[in-house]
Amino acid sequence: MKQQGIPQGSCYTITDNGTKKKACEVTLRTKDNQYERLIKSKHLSRPEDYYSIYQSGCNHDCLKCHSSEFSKRVNGQWISEDELAKIANEYLSYVTVFEPKNRVTMWHAEDLCLHCGSCIIHGRKSKYCPGKLSTSDIVLSPQGFGPARNILAFTGGDLTCNPNYYANVASKIKEETDGKIRVLVESNGYALTKKNLKTLKEGGVDSFWLDLKAYDNEIYQKLCGTPNNTVLKSVELIVDLEFTLEILILYIPNYVETDQHKQIAQLVVDVDNEIPITLLAFFPSYKLINNRSPTFQEMMTSYYELKAAGLKNMRLGNLGVFAKTAEQIEQIHSLKNR
Ligand code: SF4
Ligand code: SF4
Repeated sequence: MKQQGIPQGSCYTITDNGTKKKACEVTLRTKDNQYERLIKSKHLSRPEDYYSIYQSGCNHDCLKCHSSEFSKRVNGQWISEDELAKIANEYLSYVTVFEPKNRVTMWHAEDLCLHCGSCIIHGRKSKYCPGKLSTSDIVLSPQGFGPARNILAFTGGDLTCNPNYYANVASKIKEETDGKIRVLVESNGYALTKKNLKTLKEGGVDSFWLDLKAYDNEIYQKLCGTPNNTVLKSVELIVDLEFTLEILILYIPNYVETDQHKQIAQLVVDVDNEIPITLLAFFPSYKLINNRSPTFQEMMTSYYELKAAGLKNMRLGNLGVFAKTAEQIEQIHSLKNR
């Protein structure tokens, strides 16, 4: 990143002896001519319905991080490129839904299944079931019922500032699974420069889940510890290089509110108004443990502003955080692309 004129990320990671080191020095290493990455856990995750690899070490230090116990701390087991390719191949044997590249997102999971488990437990579909899958497509994972889609995702700590790691693993996963497993990277976008994106493209990465935390650089710095110019620019670059893209934005009262959402909406609409976007309700965690969650009214105000800006594929997430009554839940389910 420094060679590309971009400051080092906010990546100091607490080691076992209490010292702080750069994430790429303590959660990524080379051994026997390949990379190894420190991985906290791995499983078929809900509501994404894809296989998630939870990585230790991150180039951000977000006040609201939900995975700080392993993203900001050395925590996990070393797993090599070859081992990850084998894990992807084992996962392939219980995949029940094969998605085309343009559906390699978390966003598209929701139009297949809402994870209620009714078809398995009660033998009948629930009221809100999309009705697109058969019972044999639904499997039980540590996080509940749903399909197993042909996607492996890197989540948790983001080290795309070392793109060769992701490129190498993606390439080996494609080779081991005959291209049947697609590769998605959940990223904060900080390291998604044109040069790094080209490396990731060559390796075979299909898709990005971009966590666009704030439009205003000062707010972003306060929230994440880094500037956000590369993050904002990455939207256009990802689309230009023909990756699949979905964007997540958060409502964090006192930090990221409707004024920020309107500016993010304009940025996205200027690139492509059909990019799927999820507006998530923040809930207290890590260094924002005393910050409140948004209200139903606040979330709906942002939702309608984002729609008014021209975004075509919008959803609300973390419904349980802000929708407390049956009427509110009904209202959300009645929204098109809720
Ligand atoms: S980018 Fe994600 S994993 Fe990294 S510190 Fe921020 S919230 Fe945590
Ligand atoms: S497919 Fe089954 S688990 Fe999924 S929403 Fe429908 S009834 Fe619920």
